[in-house]
Amino acid sequence: MTRTFRSQIFHYVFLVIALVSPVFAAGSPAPHISLFVDAKDAPRKIFHARMAIPAKPGTLTLCYPKWIPGEHGPTGPIQDLAGLKFATTSGQTLSWRRDLLDGWTFHVEVPAGTSSVEALLDFISPVGSEGIYTGGATATDRMAVLNWNAVLLYPEGWTSDELTYDASLRLPEGWKFGTSLPVASHSDDEIKFAPVSLTMLVDGPVITGQYLKVVPLNPGQTPPVEMDIAADSAAALDPPADVWEHFKNLVTQAGMLFGAQHYRDYHFLYSLSDHVAHFGLEHHESNDSRLGERALVDPTKRLLGSGLLSHEYVHSWNGKFRRPAELTTPDYEKPMQTDLLWVYEGLTQYLGEILTGRDGERTPEQFRDALAYTAAYLDHRPGRAWRNLQDTADGVPSMQDAPSQWESWRRALDYYDEDELNWLWVDTIIRQQTHGQKSLDDFCRIFHGAPGGPPRVKTYTFEDVLNTLNQVAPYDWRGFWTGRLTNHGPGAPLGGIEGSGWKLVYDDVRSEWVQARESDRGTVNAAYSIGLWLRPDGSVTDTVEGMLAAQAGIGPGMKVIAVNGRRFSGDVLRDALREGKNSSVPLELLVEDTEYYKTFKLDYHAGEKYPHLVRDEAKPDLLSDIIKPR
Ligand SMILES: [Zn+2]
Repeated sequence: MTRTFRSQIFHYVFLVIALVSPVFAAGSPAPHISLFVDAKDAPRKIFHARMAIPAKPGTLTLCYPKWIPGEHGPTGPIQDLAGLKFATTSGQTLSWRRDLLDGWTFHVEVPAGTSSVEALLDFISPVGSEGIYTGGATATDRMAVLNWNAVLLYPEGWTSDELTYDASLRLPEGWKFGTSLPVASHSDDEIKFAPVSLTMLVDGPVITGQYLKVVPLNPGQTPPVEMDIAADSAAALDPPADVWEHFKNLVTQAGMLFGAQHYRDYHFLYSLSDHVAHFGLEHHESNDSRLGERALVDPTKRLLGSGLLSHEYVHSWNGKFRRPAELTTPDYEKPMQTDLLWVYEGLTQYLGEILTGRDGERTPEQFRDALAYTAAYLDHRPGRAWRNLQDTADGVPSMQDAPSQWESWRRALDYYDEDELNWLWVDTIIRQQTHGQKSLDDFCRIFHGAPGGPPRVKTYTFEDVLNTLNQVAPYDWRGFWTGRLTNHGPGAPLGGIEGSGWKLVYDDVRSEWVQARESDRGTVNAAYSIGLWLRPDGSVTDTVEGMLAAQAGIGPGMKVIAVNGRRFSGDVLRDALREGKNSSVPLELLVEDTEYYKTFKLDYHAGEKYPHLVRDEAKPDLLSDIIKPR
């Protein structure tokens, strides 16, 4: 997944099946559940579901999916489930009670003579920025994404592979749709899907809308790949033609990187709306990626959005096909262990980023500026003094929704970006150790490649990662990764940037990437000069512990009102930082803190500072080779 930005398998046999035996299934076939979802009210942000669930007299225990694949936490949007009602087929209403120890579990009393229970429920899509991932805002007046985990219950005691769902869906009139789910029949506004396992159903969200564009990305080839894009306007679906060429290149370049595909067909489900949650979520045969309405047609937004689709596509190989054993759970109630997210997400982040260079989404300079941006913020992460990188992965189920204030001290989901730097380092070590004969591409072909075919899960452990690395290039990989995951700095791991022939430097020139981030995300970046991240209105979102602003007493939540006596703006602050280079007068900040005003004087005279990569001519330029098309 990708949190945007500050940042599941089929009727095929799963390896996990053998690990779990159904509690009450001995000798009887797993239930076959019918599910009808009425999305006609999607513009009102409400979805109605009706299920028929086989049952026996006694207590029927039903679960609402809690641990959603790819979300890495117990994030199933239980707070958005409403209208829950159970009845017999003859219409007798049944009493139910929520489990006192697990709010996602319901117990229904089933009377004698009953073989099937009808369940009714509504999923209420949150509005605005509330909720994340499949629990985030998912519908507008013109489009919607349906994630099946949000609109169903399943009986306890079976694995998600064992349960079969007959799903059907009614759409708002005239809305088109895209999905990786096999369609059995389609008439007017109603779609009947082929019976699939619960695993496969959750793996196959449906995108739908009035404006829906389908773009084949590898015409005539197998397995087929297409992009199904829904937007809030037709205009949002009409970018320059080279945009489609980059996505076609992405499919070609990913195919060359991994050497085989693990899907029957693949759908990029791409939402363009300012009124849905923005994120990316991976599946075996699709991804649910959502950005603002103008993400394809506005060049700045297109640049900033680059990397999202490549990241989610890479997950089909790294995360879905190859998955850490402890992230591979039999159902949606068993907790996931997230300690290997530095492979699941970190390697995906690295590969997704370098593919933006290989497919042409970013020029080499744009790629380097983005890499410098990442390295710089991680190089100003004092939180690593108390919290190592491993803990950012271990802690994610309980704290992934932490606020952005104090992020440099708290640390965040650093196993994405910091492991991008670490996997770059691995790539350079492989190239150096093999004198340019091998690269991380070789690791990917062994770890993620042939034989291809329909979706399946092949689990791995830390040892499997080390063994494959050693197969490509013998090295002390255990020592390398242990060091990377448990160190306390100081500073970011820059060995990959330096080993690939480049150096991280700071100067007073804001790169295109820095400017784009600031204008689009509404930030003012003075992090590397005085240690302040601000909003355009002067609100302090973060301070870098140990740097001048923090030392002076400024903290997140305060608001800079004026700089050297003039009302705050990004330009006013930047001008003052520049002028301070030629002056011994301290930088004066008037700051409001919980209704009180204070003046802080910062004895700072080193000007603006923004990150760049510059060439180290003493070393070969491996980085340019890494991002070159294959
Ligand atoms: Zn991801």
